[in-house]
Amino acid sequence: MTRPHLKVEKNLKIDGVDTTELAKKHDTPLYVTSGDRIKQKYRKLKQALQNHYPKIRLHYACKANTNINILKILEQEGCHIDAVSTGEIYSALKAGYSPEKILYTGTSVSNQELKYAADKGVMINLDSAHEMRRLSEITSTKVSFRVNPGVGAGHHDHCITGGKESKFGIWEDDIIDTYKEAIDLGLTPIGIHMHIGSGILEVEKFRPAVQKMMELVGKITNEVDIDLEFIDIGGGLGIPYKPNEKPLNIDKFAEMVTKEYKKGLKQHNLNQPILALEPGRYLVGDSSILLTKVNDIKENPFHRYIGIDAGFNTLQRPAMYGSHHGVVNASNPKNAGNYIKNAPKEGVDRKAEIAGPLCESGDIIAQNREITAKAGDILAILDTGAYGYSMASRYNSRPLPAEILIENGETKLIRERETHRDLLSKQKTN
Ligand SMILES: *Cc1c(COP(=O)(O)O)cnc(C)c1O
Repeated sequence: MTRPHLKVEKNLKIDGVDTTELAKKHDTPLYVTSGDRIKQKYRKLKQALQNHYPKIRLHYACKANTNINILKILEQEGCHIDAVSTGEIYSALKAGYSPEKILYTGTSVSNQELKYAADKGVMINLDSAHEMRRLSEITSTKVSFRVNPGVGAGHHDHCITGGKESKFGIWEDDIIDTYKEAIDLGLTPIGIHMHIGSGILEVEKFRPAVQKMMELVGKITNEVDIDLEFIDIGGGLGIPYKPNEKPLNIDKFAEMVTKEYKKGLKQHNLNQPILALEPGRYLVGDSSILLTKVNDIKENPFHRYIGIDAGFNTLQRPAMYGSHHGVVNASNPKNAGNYIKNAPKEGVDRKAEIAGPLCESGDIIAQNREITAKAGDILAILDTGAYGYSMASRYNSRPLPAEILIENGETKLIRERETHRDLLSKQKTN
């Protein structure tokens, strides 16, 4: 239970702000984010790594949450960006990141997108030899390559991004030839990159990937004669969503990663390249809650349903990945003890399914939960800062929700709620 920004008093509070008041004032569904929590996570990870190695660079993998106000918080902290699309490059530049701080890691990238990235002066991380050849016809520039190190891990098959079944990167056996060809094509390779998966909670899952990376780095330096400026081992650091899950031990993680890293550097006689990481979920995941209102309660012989106003249009992860999100009744947090420290934990007479408003059977946000609620209560869906709003849609013609940021004791609306009119905004209506 590592959610220090959440407290139960009479109601649920986030950074001291009453969530039911926020819901009353701004309506629901409503994403609420603690900016201070994001800063805490960033500083913790950076420090843990710097305790062992001086040249650390963190790229926020911003597909997790691209609200520009959140990008700005991390920019102020000195963070870099990992962007996966030209839209993310655009947003990061608007948030104030200088182009050198942006790494563009696309897949199935078009020539037009390559040109956009090259024109903006961001660092391009290539996903295939074909992409490299296409880029070389546009510009000669510094590049890095994403390698598939042959190993992967993740919380769901869809979230494993290394190994035989992954579409990402350049297969490890082809990496030497690719670096050589890059030089022949007039490009300047200065980095190597991998990202093996997402939602990883065990330190040891990362070890073989880092070892493999260092092996490849050794080969590249010896066989291609280049000094890599940075080695990027990707993101994938998980957060605990379920009551009994233990958080990834960041100090142990940092110790293991830097140990394998330094071992590899020494073995291959390398100087001190930057060690880069790309956390997305770890930085923002537990910083947000999604407030939603109870509309309807019903029971049948098989289930009790608590019907809320947020569905997989608002939060896609449960339907898409079968993900677990903690849910607490913010108006009456008597069952919140599974998720929030020092909160009461009363039993229930019947467990409940928490169901969204979409006309889809798969629109269930949470199953079999110890929670009681009545119509009008505000529920808080926890840990929705990563892949929450950024994956939301207007499905069923439901306008996208509003977003609130709490930072330094100040509460700000950072995105207005959409209206019905927005649903038609780009459509030809006559
Ligand atoms: C999504 C992604 C990440 C971040 O993944 P998390 O699991 O959120 O840490 C990092 N790097 C790349 C290239 C990604 O696509």
